[in-house]
Amino acid sequence: MALTGLDIFKLLPKTNCKKCGMPTCLAFAMALAQKRAKLDDCPDVSQEAKDKLAAAAAPPMQKVVFGTGDAQVQIGQETVLFRHEEKFHSPTVLGASVSDKLAGDELLDRIKAVNALQFERVGMKIGARAVALVNDSGSAETFAKAAATVKGNSELAMILVTQSTEAMAAAAAQVKDGMPLLANATLETADEMAKIAKANGCPLVASAESIEDLADLSEKIKAAGVENIVLELKSSGLNEKLFDHSRVRALGLRKVFRPLGYPIISFVTEGDADAQAASAISLICKYSGVVIVDMVEPYAFLAMLTAVMNVFTDPQKPVQVEPKVYSIGEPDENSPVMFTTNFSLTYYTVESDVEASRIPSYIIVVDTEGTSVLTAYSGDKLNEKTVADAMAKFGIENMVKHRKLIIPGYVAVMSGKLEEATNWEVMVGPRECSMLPKYLQEVWN
Ligand code: SF4
Repeated sequence: MALTGLDIFKLLPKTNCKKCGMPTCLAFAMALAQKRAKLDDCPDVSQEAKDKLAAAAAPPMQKVVFGTGDAQVQIGQETVLFRHEEKFHSPTVLGASVSDKLAGDELLDRIKAVNALQFERVGMKIGARAVALVNDSGSAETFAKAAATVKGNSELAMILVTQSTEAMAAAAAQVKDGMPLLANATLETADEMAKIAKANGCPLVASAESIEDLADLSEKIKAAGVENIVLELKSSGLNEKLFDHSRVRALGLRKVFRPLGYPIISFVTEGDADAQAASAISLICKYSGVVIVDMVEPYAFLAMLTAVMNVFTDPQKPVQVEPKVYSIGEPDENSPVMFTTNFSLTYYTVESDVEASRIPSYIIVVDTEGTSVLTAYSGDKLNEKTVADAMAKFGIENMVKHRKLIIPGYVAVMSGKLEEATNWEVMVGPRECSMLPKYLQEVWN
């Protein structure tokens, strides 16, 4: 929670010496609270005050990264309990488990299956971003060997899952270059696990059955020198877990209770793929930074990834595509030309229907600040001028020799003014773009 000007004032020397360029310490405190001044501008502020102000200015939830290079993932650094208050910052990292009981081709096949969980949705690449190796074998040697195999065959960020400090030390040493997340430390193993995490420069999961124990555990791990902590609540059922996650989030963000100001990880192991996907989606909503499931079904992953996209979309910023001319198939100078808006969902719906027509076409995407056709039209972001400007800017007249423009049926009312503004013949397309294939085949052809 940000400090108020009065909170800051209490920490200043209160001499009103004016060395900071402000007439009084109170004026300086107010400027600092509004980020119009820097603490360094006061030469007399004490180290204790500096430390207190720095601690208060730190985000209420710690940022934690694991993995390296392009596969590195970031979780945490959330600031609000509800998305509409601002936005969520770090989309949930989804991953699947790999058992170290697998060996040879079976192990490689499972790793490949996790790697392959990649999709494209509304123009965005989404997919599994973590692979969790589970020490089911109970052997430190087997776990370390399997960790090396996972690292050698997967670009994904790795999570090492074992209760054994011996197995964790062996595996972490093998793959520390990949900065895996170590899961997990309990109250009993905290000291030893923290030593392993510190020695290998890895973040560590603190795992406990109650919120109180979890707070004690994270404090213990932090005192042992590990700053990057992820929380796991081993609550008994999904209902209880969702409730506890909400309490942890509220205590961490609203009360700025630092021992709980860390991202949460959830492991889903019960049930078939359908049941795991349902649980995982609930855990994405309430408030897991990482969710690891014990299956590799693409259909179930796509549903979970779609939930992540929905929950983590910035509510103040619609998903947009770049305004330009898109070629569908291999259009030529005789191909149809149509326009739509740069709201992602609108564009990709139109695109798939034009593709379905099998008639190569040009789609001009007009910048309407990410709004749909009707919303843009009623907000005057889609009018004869914005369309004519887009056509001129993207040089569509050099791409085709005809001068015919197909417009969405919903904005047929624009026809007259658009013809005047462009000197193109306007053809009113269907209201629903699902009718575009029929329209293109019957009317255009
Ligand atoms: S320099 Fe520091 S002590 Fe002097 S007026 Fe500014 S805030 Fe107060």
